[in-house]
Amino acid sequence: MIRVVKPDAPAKLLEGIHPTAADCLLYDGDSAAYDAGTANFEISSAIYGHAEVKDVLRAAQHSKCCFCEGMFEANAAADVEHFRPKKYAQQGRRQAKLYPGYYWLGYVWSNLYYSCQVCNRSHKKNFFPLGDPATRARNHHGDVAAEAPLILDPGGPLDPRDHIRFDDEVAVGATPQGKATVDYVGLNRLPLIEARLEWFQILDLMRCAAAIPEEGATLETLQTIADARAFLAEAVLPTSKFSAMVEDMLAGAA
Ligand SMILES: [Zn+2]
Repeated sequence: MIRVVKPDAPAKLLEGIHPTAADCLLYDGDSAAYDAGTANFEISSAIYGHAEVKDVLRAAQHSKCCFCEGMFEANAAADVEHFRPKKYAQQGRRQAKLYPGYYWLGYVWSNLYYSCQVCNRSHKKNFFPLGDPATRARNHHGDVAAEAPLILDPGGPLDPRDHIRFDDEVAVGATPQGKATVDYVGLNRLPLIEARLEWFQILDLMRCAAAIPEEGATLETLQTIADARAFLAEAVLPTSKFSAMVEDMLAGAA
């Protein structure tokens, strides 16, 4: 996971201002029903999930999932993910569903990311643990700035790199936030470990080739060394898959 830097919000999200204001009025009119989950808000994916929004997020995230750094293949299914869940929130597994969720952030740019469906739907779901659950904003009168989320916000004030490091292909949480993110987003799920290991092994071969002494090498070998170094230099860029792992791998090789 690396930090996501987003450009200005797409104009499409302006269409969410009126429905959000209407939802806030609805909540104030019958807060008991929304708190109980018997009344629900309809957050329109035609707005937050519009191609215009997706395209900006996808470009900002270098066509990678905001959590696992897996590359989105062409036409692969992916979701515009709400960092603070829109329908309900759970402090943890087997914890109560806290309705009505962060409905007032359904179309708010800072709350939106582009995520692979495995990270979003199979792992993160509606989990949104806080360091202190008592600070949770339960409706639009609350203050999310008072919350200290345990799952790292990809574009938030904390740099994910300070909280999650890689021991070869394995993600290791270095802080409570890092540990919670690895756990709730499933950063060490088996298919992901296998995909990172495969990439790690390729890069390890490149690293060996890059370390061949140049002195006395044939022209062909010099070319191999140069190619391997170029390959590694590209693999560590934020535009490449699993770049956080690669950065730790190359730093560890020094
Ligand atoms: Zn993912």
